[in-house]
Amino acid sequence: MNLLIKNGLINDNNESYNADILIEDGKIKEIGIKLNNENNYEVIDASERLVLPGGVDVHTHMDLDLGKYRAVDDFYTGTVAAVFGGTTTIVDHIAFGPNGCSLHHKIDEYHKLADGKAVIDYSFHGVIQHVDENILNEMNELVDEGIQSFKIYMTYNNMLNDEEILRVLVKAKETGAVIAVHAENNGAIQYLRKYYGDNGKTEPIYHAVTRPDSTEAEAINRMIYLSEIAGYPHLYFVHVSTKKGLNEITAARKRGVKNIYCETCTQYLTLTEENYKKENYEGLKYIMAPPLRKHEDVEALWKGIEKNEVDVIATDHCPFFFKQKLDGKTDFRLAPGGAPGVEERMEIILTEGIKRGISVNRLVEKLSANPAKIFGLYPKKGTIQIGADADIIIMKKGNKIIEQKNRHGRSDYTAYEGFEVDYVVETTVQRGRILVSGCKLTADEGTGEFIKRKCKKGKED
Ligand code: MN
Repeated sequence: MNLLIKNGLINDNNESYNADILIEDGKIKEIGIKLNNENNYEVIDASERLVLPGGVDVHTHMDLDLGKYRAVDDFYTGTVAAVFGGTTTIVDHIAFGPNGCSLHHKIDEYHKLADGKAVIDYSFHGVIQHVDENILNEMNELVDEGIQSFKIYMTYNNMLNDEEILRVLVKAKETGAVIAVHAENNGAIQYLRKYYGDNGKTEPIYHAVTRPDSTEAEAINRMIYLSEIAGYPHLYFVHVSTKKGLNEITAARKRGVKNIYCETCTQYLTLTEENYKKENYEGLKYIMAPPLRKHEDVEALWKGIEKNEVDVIATDHCPFFFKQKLDGKTDFRLAPGGAPGVEERMEIILTEGIKRGISVNRLVEKLSANPAKIFGLYPKKGTIQIGADADIIIMKKGNKIIEQKNRHGRSDYTAYEGFEVDYVVETTVQRGRILVSGCKLTADEGTGEFIKRKCKKGKED
């Protein structure tokens, strides 16, 4: 697709400047002042608008099958929500498979779930739920097939023990794959959930009480030392939610630990555990793991963005209906975990970050460039430069209130009801195709493509 985006203020991860962007065959062909339109391409006038690289959300759970529950956005509705919020690429964290299944088992299934449905480009993180020689060998195969990252869990039924984690890390070091880890201390959480539950402490606030910040910090710390033993493979902490957890990462970097990356999510930057105390069971809407934290954690994570300690802002988009969350009415442990967020991330983070005096470039780095770099998508994705995919969003300054009625996903609530945003996505372009125009959907189902991601073998930064 061919296009000319004129007169916009381009905001990449390292600079802002006024220029036109000429798009040919879905790629950025030329960037410059007053570009000629010799071939009469369609023109978008971006005067008084911000032009940004499309968002890259590397933590979503589309169509996630949890057994009793299934996340209510599939790869169509979830990516439609994404595109309205200015996100043009996702890397989805896939569900667990049956015990003992191969790594390919779930990846094959996810290709079927996404193919013909997604309206934006996508990839998947592999998931490792047990470890043996076959699984380790399969990591090589998947890397060759463009799956450059694998998720492991330190809690839940399919968690790995320390020996298994070490074997995975050693293999990751060899292949150059990134290991994404859900870091929470399982034993402590099991103990606390039982202790409080047995004593009738089952209101939603006990979801936060039973996963204290130390459970995150301990797991992060242990993981970092295991990584040291394995020779520092690329290690990525998903959804870091606490000051204590972030402190473990910054302390490790100070003592020379290499190749660790830190993600946080919109909710940990904007919401606190006070939400669990909402009346009429509304606190259940925020049941997710890790839980929402305290004000001082929110502040520490924003400081971490300012100081470049946090690398990525993602969403952990995993929506359910409120009526499903109400299964936790008598006991928070019975509610499915997760909340929507893929649509809100770009607008909310730009609004809140700029209010805090953080540059738009720094925010673009966290929302687009860094996730693309870490997960093998850069410079195809995550940047506005010649040769990159023309994945571009145009935002206008203005005021919008986020409400359920202006959301596009399938869930019947938003965790950000009433949030005011100052930056509104008006146009979303992917590979030169206009997916949202004037806040209206123009994308066709199934036009998103699976993106093969590449490892940076042996390279350390
Ligand atoms: Mn998740």
